[in-house]
Amino acid sequence: MDYFNYKDGELHAEEVAISELATHVGTPFYCYSSQTLARHYRVLANSLEGCDFRICFAVKSNSNIAVLASLGRLGAGADVVSAGEIRRALAAGISADSIVFSGVGKTRDEMAFALDHGIFQFNVESQAELHILNEIALSKSQIAPVAIRINPDVDAITHAKISTGKKDDKFGVPIQQALELYAQSQQLQGIRFQGISMHIGSQLTQLAPFRQAYSHAAEFVKTLRAGGHIISVIDAGGGLGIPYCEESEPPLPHDYGAVVKEIFAPLGAKIILEPGRLIVGNAGILVSRVIYSKYSHERRFIIVDAAMNDLMRPSLYDAYHAIVPVSEAHNATPLTPADVVGPVCESSDIFAKDRLLPDFKPDDLIAFRSAGAYGAVMSGTYNTRLLIPEVLVNGAQWSVVRARPTYEELLKCESIPGWV
Ligand SMILES: *Cc1c(COP(=O)(O)O)cnc(C)c1O
Repeated sequence: MDYFNYKDGELHAEEVAISELATHVGTPFYCYSSQTLARHYRVLANSLEGCDFRICFAVKSNSNIAVLASLGRLGAGADVVSAGEIRRALAAGISADSIVFSGVGKTRDEMAFALDHGIFQFNVESQAELHILNEIALSKSQIAPVAIRINPDVDAITHAKISTGKKDDKFGVPIQQALELYAQSQQLQGIRFQGISMHIGSQLTQLAPFRQAYSHAAEFVKTLRAGGHIISVIDAGGGLGIPYCEESEPPLPHDYGAVVKEIFAPLGAKIILEPGRLIVGNAGILVSRVIYSKYSHERRFIIVDAAMNDLMRPSLYDAYHAIVPVSEAHNATPLTPADVVGPVCESSDIFAKDRLLPDFKPDDLIAFRSAGAYGAVMSGTYNTRLLIPEVLVNGAQWSVVRARPTYEELLKCESIPGWV
């Protein structure tokens, strides 16, 4: 459920008319709803009531510091995958002791930075990484709190590009090998093993893969404990999917939480969840304006001012985003198939193919729904298009939380050497 609804014939974000934002900010832009963020956070948090848990929001899904600050206020920590994301979480007021650091390729500098700030946990993904982390911690006379990220070898049943927990995926350590890593704890004086972690994929639309992975993990925790290890943290990762279209019905957060609770609560460890998409996906839309519409070889094309550089998901993983008119009156016009495309000079700059849509005319405003996760964060400046603004709404208030840069700012990072 979200707070993007029609009121008086106009699409609103909470109490704010999208057309009003478009007039002030210019298109295209992202718009996020605070109340939707809060709602999603609370639904998940409520599902774990009674457990010792923390929701560490996956910063990579939406790293705007106003979004992070909003979630931080509600009690969220952060799951980060780079030193840059640690900086963002800290800038948003999220305390270091609720930051977990994931990712297969942490550099020495990033580890040092994270240690200096005293983060809660490193989710380590290989023996090589573990040894480097040990070395760096020792050089600073510190002890790094670690969970090994296990690869439980389950099929997440999701798009191949967002599966992370099968044995062929680059993420995590096979359970057998993880056991050997924990066994080295005596030799690694700079490491304190405090838990285990996992993350099996994204946009999961079934509970079975979670259940399977979590059961393997629970067994593993028992094995580790039997071997004398203190395992006080279980990081269950993120990955629960959201409904991008009306027909899809992913599991409810409440039912997902019930599985987490059922499998992990008896182990009496602190439970960490790392949701990204679930919290922020449906809390954001991308607003765009129609530039032209044209017919070519009988196909209808709607050319809009947003493009693949602003929202990459459709070209990257054939993702579906519902497209709705900002003015409700369009919904009364007959729907006919159209391709919705951006201005970028790539054939893959397509948001939708053969989508049944109203008779959009130039200057009409449209909105791509469910664009809050993996939208703005993946954007770039291809075709020398400026990064687009992000607007955060709360009730009747709104603010531009990332301004559109100027062309001067874009060009000033580049220079022409004297020898050219
Ligand atoms: C991407 C990622 C997440 C978040 O995934 P969602 O599908 O957005 O919930 C959580 N943990 C790790 C380690 C990730 O890489």
